[in-house]
Amino acid sequence: MTKEELRRKVQLELSRRRQRAITLAEDNKAIAYHKIPRLLVLDNLSIDIGIQLARLGAAGGHLEEREEQKRLLDEVAKERRALLVEANFAPDFLEPRYTCPNCKDFGRTPQGICSCVTLLTQKLRRDEINARFPLSMCSFENFSLLHYKEEIDPAFGISAREQMTEVLERCKRYAAEFRKSSPNLYLFGETGIGKTHLALSIASEVLKKQFNVVYVSSQNIFFAMQQDRAEAANIIETLLAADLLILDDLGTELVNAYVISTLYNIVDTRMGRKRPTIYTTNIIDEALLTARYTEKISSRLLGSCEMYRLLGDDIRLQA
Ligand SMILES: [Zn+2]
Repeated sequence: MTKEELRRKVQLELSRRRQRAITLAEDNKAIAYHKIPRLLVLDNLSIDIGIQLARLGAAGGHLEEREEQKRLLDEVAKERRALLVEANFAPDFLEPRYTCPNCKDFGRTPQGICSCVTLLTQKLRRDEINARFPLSMCSFENFSLLHYKEEIDPAFGISAREQMTEVLERCKRYAAEFRKSSPNLYLFGETGIGKTHLALSIASEVLKKQFNVVYVSSQNIFFAMQQDRAEAANIIETLLAADLLILDDLGTELVNAYVISTLYNIVDTRMGRKRPTIYTTNIIDEALLTARYTEKISSRLLGSCEMYRLLGDDIRLQA
């Protein structure tokens, strides 16, 4: 999505919001007029007084007369409110309920662009990135421990089943207790043993709590960024702004200087902002991580993450 397309989408969404608020207010007006016929009389009276006031104002002077009209207007408003309350409507039942009362969904205030435009822009960017991935397909409910062997793995002194039971519990707890200052996670283990599934399950729980979650696969996102450097700036901005970023399958991208500096930027900036990131990777060895991404990145990554070691055999190869 180019900047221009994004700008148009933002404007379209703003006008939709405005229209929705106004239509709803019109509907409510029809309901209220039906129930309280006197309201229509009062509303017409307000309009008349408004016109009268404008005339007096334009002519200049007539101070006393203007004060009298303003007093009348106040009285009409008071009666109107009382009638609404008496009929069990909220006092603001007839007012348009804008998504952003600050700019009435126009996207502008006298001070300039409204903050809701920034939020909406970020949301559209996020939706665009997340649309490439099936964020809602994986859940803790369809994560089966039956794929993991019960025999003790001599290398670890624990069975894959036991280890994964623990990891699953920790992931569930992480999702349940998620807040913007949650720790980073590093889910590591061999290919095909459920890292992405667990990361997506956390994503889907955290999304339900209305946090901004961005999920990207390392391979795809670094490829996309290098294909279109102008777009890359927007992507990075979105990754940095997410409440929770999931960088899946770190180590599958083609690594080069660009990837290393971009990854460093992401790791470092999110650490500085104290925003959690979940990394999944099949790089199970610190030396390999350092060799691939430099010491600067690997020490930051490993120093800032809770490490979850996944065990098991490739689920996709199991009958
Ligand atoms: Zn606004």
